[in-house]
Amino acid sequence: MNKKPCTHEYLAATEFGKALFCKECGVVHLHIQNLSLRLGVADFLGLADTLTEASNKARAVEKDKTKRRGFTVVKQNHRLN
Ligand SMILES: [Zn+2]
Repeated sequence: MNKKPCTHEYLAATEFGKALFCKECGVVHLHIQNLSLRLGVADFLGLADTLTEASNKARAVEKDKTKRRGFTVVKQNHRLN
């Protein structure tokens, strides 16, 4: 058993989390605050796609809310007058 030591390469690092890739293990280490996940590349990509799809929908919902809030304010002003 002559395994090379792990070498972790940053894939991304933001204030929300870090993703590191280990070339020796072929594993992605995902660190989100106190949570730490070890995922195979295929599983990581599947999770990334899932999160991308979810975040696109969440952004669309947020945009819609902002629009509706704008309309509500206009209506409230009319009622006050
Ligand atoms: Zn490793």
